[in-house]
Amino acid sequence: MSGMDQWMGKAREMANAAGKMAGEALDASKTKVQELKLSGDLKDAYARLGTVVYDARRGGVDNEKLVDLILGEIETLREELKALNPQQEAESRELYCPQCGAANDPEDLFCPKCGAPLSKQAPVE
Ligand SMILES: [Zn+2]
Repeated sequence: MSGMDQWMGKAREMANAAGKMAGEALDASKTKVQELKLSGDLKDAYARLGTVVYDARRGGVDNEKLVDLILGEIETLREELKALNPQQEAESRELYCPQCGAANDPEDLFCPKCGAPLSKQAPVE
């Protein structure tokens, strides 16, 4: 094997490794971009919901259907965001009481509403 062949082999190896890393970074940033887009859409939907409710109250108009439509949109966006961050969802689930479903502080050991012990992962010591 000539020195040149060896060099080419090494260069190809490095190029492959670099390509792999770039691909992984691209996947991560794609998720991030999608997350940002969904968050933006969600913010828009909340803003629209606010406007619709405000107009309805102010003008005495019943636009419940429109509210439902936006609520559905928000629900879909939230699901999509959750799907992007399955880990985050698992963490946020700990904030709800398994007994009554009341929201509670992650620091609470017992539910502030029904007093049920909140099963949390044992702290690592
Ligand atoms: Zn409870």
